[in-house]
Amino acid sequence: MIEWDEFGPEKVLEVYDPVMGMHGFLVIDNTALGPGKGGIRMTSSVTVQEVFRLARTMTWKNALAKIPFGGAKSGIVAEPREITAETRKALIQSFARAIKPLSPSLYIAGPDVGTGQEDMRWYAEANGSLKSCTGKPAEMCVKPGEECGIPHEFGSTGFGVVHSTAETISFLGLNIKDITVAIEGFGNVGSFVARHISVLGARVVAVSDRKGTVYNEAGLEIETLIKRKEATGSVTNYKPGTVLPTKELFELKVDILIPAALSDVITSENVNKIKARLIVEGSNIPMTPNMEEILHKKGILVVPDLVANAGGVISSYAEYRGYNPKKMFEMVERKIKNNTRTVLEHARSKGIKPRDAAMEIAVERVRKATRLRRETLEVAHVRG
Ligand code: NAD
Repeated sequence: MIEWDEFGPEKVLEVYDPVMGMHGFLVIDNTALGPGKGGIRMTSSVTVQEVFRLARTMTWKNALAKIPFGGAKSGIVAEPREITAETRKALIQSFARAIKPLSPSLYIAGPDVGTGQEDMRWYAEANGSLKSCTGKPAEMCVKPGEECGIPHEFGSTGFGVVHSTAETISFLGLNIKDITVAIEGFGNVGSFVARHISVLGARVVAVSDRKGTVYNEAGLEIETLIKRKEATGSVTNYKPGTVLPTKELFELKVDILIPAALSDVITSENVNKIKARLIVEGSNIPMTPNMEEILHKKGILVVPDLVANAGGVISSYAEYRGYNPKKMFEMVERKIKNNTRTVLEHARSKGIKPRDAAMEIAVERVRKATRLRRETLEVAHVRG
């Protein structure tokens, strides 16, 4: 069920194309700070409720990152691994045409689970405006060198997750070189997290994908792992390492756990088996706030998704503004570090968990913008 409240959602659209068999959703949650920004999720199980929850997360994430975007998200019901590229293009373009009256004016699309840069190319082509989505291929340029696409394949989200993790480690007075890490998922976010965090000196001991978990206490060699995954389709073919069931990753004895794949993976079934002392949410909503509360009471620090994985949306804003990749990465690092530190200090000073601290800051910003918008409309109404 969608719960409507003082923030939104402002628009919920369900679209269906009987010719193509395209079935999709768009939820524009709140546009007080700017047009709604959020990716297109393509999975066989995506629902309007899931899209709404993700859109609401975007409202807070964008507000917290201090970028002039509101919150939105969309979804197309299809299993990307079971369709041809031709069908995929047709579905994306059908969806783009169906929601064109709202995009880019109120919705700016981007990649999410199951979609990537080629989908963004097709989306922008069908929409007719390069401003209608971000995460486009690098060669899609208005002004070569400046106003070009910044595909999410550049890995800005994983890069940001690592800077959020590093800032938290320094906040806790620890040394990243003494830290062991387990990463759930080895797609766009997970693989870049693994790469960047190992460059900073942390030891990545476990990584999972849908086929299983590969574990080696001595540490995994990340560039070799990336090549193994590319060549064979799964991290479980990496050697040397022990292969465990996918879900066991969450129960390993590591310092940091980084969920970077699916929603709701930390549940009442495994929450008490977690041994990590820090969880940094690379994926969106890997657990409910109730689970975070349980972990908080046990002294396990959870850096929430809206702080940790905002690198993607910060880079989207950089692309929207026409920045080049160098300027984008500088912006992601600066904003993510500042946001993480601000939220952790606020949480510590008030004795609350980081999600509550982040929410207090984000809600206040959205509420202020909403009030301002209402006042402006009232003035216009009186004058008109
Ligand atoms: P992706 O499709 O590139 O990768 C997903 C990965 O999850 C794949 O490696 C897949 O094998 C793995 N996976 C699937 N089922 C699994 C299972 N049961 N256990 C373990 N791994 C499993 O997706 P992504 O872009 O990396 O996104 C991952 C998460 O991060 C999502 O929650 C997404 O909303 C969030 N996120 C992504 C971005 C971005 O820029 N990519 C930005 C913000 C948030």
